[in-house]
Amino acid sequence: MRGDLLSRFQASTNGRFRLRDHDPAWDGGAQTKEHAASQVDRNHQRLYESQELLWASGTHSVLIVLQAMDTAGKDGLIKHVMTGLNPQGCDVWGFKVPSAREQQHDFLWRYSMALPARGSFGIFNRSYYEEVLVVRVHPEFLAKQGSADHHSLWTERYEEINDFEKHLARNGTAIVKFFLHLSKKEQRKRLLERLNEPAKHWKFSAADLAERQYWPEYMTAYEDAIAATSTKHAPWYILPADHKWVARWLASEILIATVKQLKLKLPPVSKQQRAAITAAKRELGK
Ligand code: ATP
Ligand code: MG
Repeated sequence: MRGDLLSRFQASTNGRFRLRDHDPAWDGGAQTKEHAASQVDRNHQRLYESQELLWASGTHSVLIVLQAMDTAGKDGLIKHVMTGLNPQGCDVWGFKVPSAREQQHDFLWRYSMALPARGSFGIFNRSYYEEVLVVRVHPEFLAKQGSADHHSLWTERYEEINDFEKHLARNGTAIVKFFLHLSKKEQRKRLLERLNEPAKHWKFSAADLAERQYWPEYMTAYEDAIAATSTKHAPWYILPADHKWVARWLASEILIATVKQLKLKLPPVSKQQRAAITAAKRELGK
């Protein structure tokens, strides 16, 4: 089943990708909400075990990239899927509008500084992909980066991102990229809930409404970026996000399958270590 999920929700890696082939409102098919939630719960233990292996083997890290329009459920997905991990081996980074200092560096700098070390999970809640998404929709950000919107800029950035990810993959980072695919209609519903429920007022941001106006521009930017950067070593997964439980269930399953593919093993115990263990036991009277 997991293998099927991997291929079914993975964006093709042949440079051709169309968002309209993916239904944001997919309701899980034969899967029930209750069963999916129990799978996510069961996977917490599996993820915890793979985190221990990741740490013990010390050869790999896992980078999870989350991208989506506002209200798509990135925060809830992190909370529900990653619960159960040891906080010592998992860093979550949320990337907002860059600071003046960050803008003085190349566009990948601030993200490189946050990459997970071997043995750890790293979650990017927004990521270097913002540099070809929000920055493409609002090219005025480029001036602050000492750059201009020339015709090949975006293809150059896709290329640089692909090179960056290839470099990471070759150096032991498993990269999983999730696009939480939300429909504009469902976003409207979620924004209205925030406006109509006093307990959700704190979540409302006028900026979300402003960005909603650029929906078609964002969809084009997502489509182009995913088409150009879904690769074997760093695939994009398109998670239907109109039903939050569907996105969480798929993310959890895909993550488990990805870590499994690393075939992590406990480090071998050498002859000397075995002798040291026997000696230590003897010393402790065992
Ligand atoms: P939430 O709304 O759940 O708190 P969020 O990720 O939407 O999470 P916000 O503070 O609402 O966080 O928004 C962050 C904003 O920063 C987004 O609009 C995003 O597009 C913007 N941003 C992120 N990276 C960049 C970048 N490199 N250049 C310009 N804007 C960026
Ligand atoms: Mg927001």
